[in-house]
Amino acid sequence: MNKIILATVGMTLSIIACNHDTKKEITEKESGFAWQIDRFSDLAILRYQVPGFEKLTVKQKTLIYYLNQAALCGRDILFDQNYKHNLCIRKTLESIYLNYTGDKKSESWKKFEDYLKRVWFSNGIHHHYSTDKFKPEFSEDYFKLLLSQIKDADLPLQKDETRTSFIDKLATLLFASEVDAKRVNLDPEHDIIASSANNFYENVTQKEADDFYKKQHDNAKNKELSFGLNSKLIKENGKLKEQVYKVGGMYSSAIEKIVYWLSKAEDFAENDKQKETIKQLIEFYKTGDLETFDKYNIAWVEDTVSHIDFVNGFIEVYGDAAGRKATWESIVNFKDEEATKRTEIISANAQWFEDHSPVDPKFKKKTIKGVSAKVITIAMLGGDCYPSTPIGINLPNSSWIRKNYGSKSVSLENICYAYDQATVNSGSIEEFAFDKAQVERAKKYGYASSNLHTDLHECLGHGSGQLMPGVKTDDLKNYHSTIEEARADLFALYYMMSPKIYDLKLLPSIEAAKAEYDGYIRGGLMTQLKRIELGKNIEESHMRNRQLIAKWVYEKGNAENVIEKVVKNGKTYFVIRDYSKLNILFGDLLKEIQRITSEGDFNAAKALVENYGVTVDINLHKEVLKRFEKLDLPSYRGFVNPEYTPVYGKDSSIVDVKITYPDNYVQQMLKYSKEYSFLPIQN
Ligand code: ZN
Repeated sequence: MNKIILATVGMTLSIIACNHDTKKEITEKESGFAWQIDRFSDLAILRYQVPGFEKLTVKQKTLIYYLNQAALCGRDILFDQNYKHNLCIRKTLESIYLNYTGDKKSESWKKFEDYLKRVWFSNGIHHHYSTDKFKPEFSEDYFKLLLSQIKDADLPLQKDETRTSFIDKLATLLFASEVDAKRVNLDPEHDIIASSANNFYENVTQKEADDFYKKQHDNAKNKELSFGLNSKLIKENGKLKEQVYKVGGMYSSAIEKIVYWLSKAEDFAENDKQKETIKQLIEFYKTGDLETFDKYNIAWVEDTVSHIDFVNGFIEVYGDAAGRKATWESIVNFKDEEATKRTEIISANAQWFEDHSPVDPKFKKKTIKGVSAKVITIAMLGGDCYPSTPIGINLPNSSWIRKNYGSKSVSLENICYAYDQATVNSGSIEEFAFDKAQVERAKKYGYASSNLHTDLHECLGHGSGQLMPGVKTDDLKNYHSTIEEARADLFALYYMMSPKIYDLKLLPSIEAAKAEYDGYIRGGLMTQLKRIELGKNIEESHMRNRQLIAKWVYEKGNAENVIEKVVKNGKTYFVIRDYSKLNILFGDLLKEIQRITSEGDFNAAKALVENYGVTVDINLHKEVLKRFEKLDLPSYRGFVNPEYTPVYGKDSSIVDVKITYPDNYVQQMLKYSKEYSFLPIQN
């Protein structure tokens, strides 16, 4: 619910919920910086930069250093939560990787290496996104050959386990596709707990788990607790019991290390509120008490002044089909003051934007308050945020805390920037932009303008307008989300060319707005089709909304040639010929979509979505897929972390922390496995 992710690539950033700023300074300074450092399977590995780290005080850097250490200590917890054999498998593969002395140039070795890279990426043997077990591309015989060269002492053999039984076990886990096929099985035809391969339950059925937690809830004095969040539920001798993640409980040896670094961080807290937050978190790790976890969350959400902030703990429940048990994750960050200023300017002017929109006055809000999201710079990613990471986070998850104390919503600025840089240089703009002017505009302004689009969409668009008395949001039924996303997108697109934007200095030049219009039309009519299987219609509401808008303005502007379809050397392009008229068309559609929303006009919503948002021109679709195929873009991207090295003074206190940007994915993974591996292979 509260993680915003970038699901696929080859799209402009305007499609995602994400606030950021142009980092002109870094582009110039680091123009030779390699963003993408590895590519395998459907994945690519990027680096991110941490602009502003050097300008922090020694005390702040020290705090970040300690929190970073705490962020790395839980990596093995996540591997084990994802699947109880993951640590054994990873250690075996790493041992082969380090100790095998045979041919490392062969095709099979390359495939073995790719498999290991995928296991690291997914924190286990199931795909990080689809949660399906992925198949090694090398043969079982080759795997056995590799193992035959590794000494017993270098393998994670269990007590009373023979070499033969160990090898057979591993071969089954890796190669038998029907064994533990899916990490999270949401298919209601099955027992979603028993059929999921994750390690949150053992010998427990869905019904037994539901009953167990219902009872826990019914017997509890405080019914708001997140029951079952931080434990494994097992059945032993016919009795259900929880193994709680805490010091002295499950995962103790890793949690002790986390607590050790958090205690050090506590001494460098920026203020009393932050000190209190860290104290509560440590207490939670020591006791496993869910009431303490809520106290920690409240202290955390109330701390709005600290420059440095972090998440560390059992947070998100996507990994459990029953949505109860949380995987371990951590991020460490500090506030991006510049970019946050921009969302504050937009919010402060919310009423002006509402008053001047092309919408019928009776559908406008009399008083409106914009939402201002904090923009942050990530310093470290850990656990379930590494290497694949969200671009926006909204926490805490507990609804009673959100209601009574609010929540913090953040955008991960430097992560978005790294994504953008990797996309800008992927060749997709050159392939789909009509001419050099479009390419240059996209490269120069695309990032700034898509950021602004997202800010306007999130901070103003969704909050604008009002419903007529008696109208409910669900009057539009299954068309609601497409219409709602279109409304927010159109609000952004319409204002992108308004002089107000330039008065407020939110964009550097009207060329930036043109870059956004180019990209939006390209995306809505062509490039987003990359994510659709040939022959299928568009289902997802953001995608429907984008095609709806682009197709509608293309058709309505046809007589005046606002957007021209050009075929050059067998390639199709949509070229905007009149930006001002296009701006007016966006306004016209915004007016109509607001009317549909305010009046709950289901039939009009249905007609718009079905006529413009759903069906795909199969020939154009074929062409788009063919043009993308040539570019060989990854479907998902993840990150390596920067490295932080403390500099010690005479009294062994930290006097500075140096940051470097490693460019080797394998080395970082091996380093983490060597230095931050605290758990036994069976937990
Ligand atoms: Zn939205």
